[in-house]
Amino acid sequence: MQNLHIKRPLKPKQAYQYRGRFAPSPSGLLHFGSLIAALASFLDAKAFVNDHGEQGKWLIRIEDIDRPREQKGASSAILTTLEAFGLHWDETALYQSTQSQYYRDILSNLAQQKLSYYCQCTRSQIKAIGGIYQGHCRTANYKSQGSATRLVNQYGLYQFNDIFQDDVVCNKALANEDFIIHRKDGLFAYQLAVVADDIAQSITHVVRGCDLLEPTARQLTLFKTLNNSFLKCTTPRYGHIPLAITSEGYKLSKQNKAPAINNANPQPALIAALTFLGQAPIPELAGASVEEIIQWAINHWQRHRVPKAFEINID
Ligand code: GLU
Ligand code: ZN
Repeated sequence: MQNLHIKRPLKPKQAYQYRGRFAPSPSGLLHFGSLIAALASFLDAKAFVNDHGEQGKWLIRIEDIDRPREQKGASSAILTTLEAFGLHWDETALYQSTQSQYYRDILSNLAQQKLSYYCQCTRSQIKAIGGIYQGHCRTANYKSQGSATRLVNQYGLYQFNDIFQDDVVCNKALANEDFIIHRKDGLFAYQLAVVADDIAQSITHVVRGCDLLEPTARQLTLFKTLNNSFLKCTTPRYGHIPLAITSEGYKLSKQNKAPAINNANPQPALIAALTFLGQAPIPELAGASVEEIIQWAINHWQRHRVPKAFEINID
């Protein structure tokens, strides 16, 4: 038999996938501050093109683990606003309220590997020792009843290179704390859920507001802890955009009842958001459609133009 020299097709090289996300909590409607975060994370994903010519993916996660703080109808109102602003997401939106079993599995694995422990300290006890928890209950062997769960913080990571803010150094003491991953009241802690779901959604880039700069240190430590124990994962790149604040120094947020943005007339807020992000929208965009503005913004997105500032006054 003749020797066949079959030329095998080259195994297709997997192109790099950018996966970004916007992760609103449905404790209120979108406001200008959250629109900026949504827009920046969307543009950073869509301006990315891999070597197969594919744009980045932009996912939505509704962070509805804090049921008591949830505002009825907010989730769907947020999604409607994103649509009205031309921010169309890929894949189906993930609701954290459907992830409880996954979070519980992570918690029990951490416990099994002695990477977490129960703590019964009260807020005022911690305040009395200076506000930073000192691992008091690490060897106490409390039961889950009436306890919070804390992570054994082995790494205390506190520095990282931010896409927009360059080198960021977080508060070292806070970054070293054995932080809470399961609350005393039974709710899953934000730090646990956010990292668990950035893993579940294979997020490669987290773009969000500077109000979440400090928590990033803890998230880096949690990623490393999981990766080095039972859940292989890659820590995403982080990028933090300035917070929009008003002259009184208040951050625009659901708490101070900043006005909801107008779905019927999205163009002015969209252009204002681009200006805020340093992207210098051209005057011609004033009469353009939402789709045209978004397309222009994708084509012209430049990371280095995003202001290197933790907050910016907008009035
Ligand atoms: N759900 C958080 C918020 O609305 C954001 C979480 C994140 O982007 O990591 O503030
Ligand atoms: Zn304790």
